[in-house]
Amino acid sequence: MLTDGERRKRHKVSSQRWRQKNKDYCKRWREEHKDAYREIQKRSRLKNKDKRKEYNQLYRQTHKEQAKLWEENHKEQRREAQKRYREKHGDELRQKKKEASRIWRQKHPELSRQTARKYAETHRREKQEYANNYRIAMKQKVLTYYGGGKLACSMCGESRIDCLSIDHINAGGHRHLKEIKASSGSHFYYWLIKNGFPTGYQTLCMNCQFIKRIKNREN
Ligand SMILES: [Zn+2]
Repeated sequence: MLTDGERRKRHKVSSQRWRQKNKDYCKRWREEHKDAYREIQKRSRLKNKDKRKEYNQLYRQTHKEQAKLWEENHKEQRREAQKRYREKHGDELRQKKKEASRIWRQKHPELSRQTARKYAETHRREKQEYANNYRIAMKQKVLTYYGGGKLACSMCGESRIDCLSIDHINAGGHRHLKEIKASSGSHFYYWLIKNGFPTGYQTLCMNCQFIKRIKNREN
């Protein structure tokens, strides 16, 4: 006969063995049924969404230190998750933000005007710089295209961008600019890009345009 102590001990050992066995079995099952396991986890997450949220909030409040530590230790992971979330719900978020700021503006008309004014003031230079860079890039693109792939005069090879402009090969430039309502060089460059770089133009420097004009007059 076993004493009570021995029986308890035996029971403990056997239940420990069983738990280990069960643990191993579950682990194996999870490894062999990865997709199914993921599905189960997902379902459980969805089912207990509110509970989890509540618990997490509570945990963060009661374990501030730990929560902070966790956040610091999982920076990369959190960033990834945020990125994924933004990719999935980007439109929704933008819409929400837009709506929220609209409501805020309605509630605080004077303050919102002030903020807008301040923003415009502090970002004026930035905006100008951006517009400037855009204009330069456009000019470079057009002049390079009509310079035959080189940012240079198609006649003499002059490459200082400030000396270069677009020449209407068969004259009539002024009339054409009026027709397309191009009040500035940038407008014209934009028009050329938008119309898929039509033929009839070339990149010339001021000198070569001047010479061309004289020759046309002589002929
Ligand atoms: Zn030239």
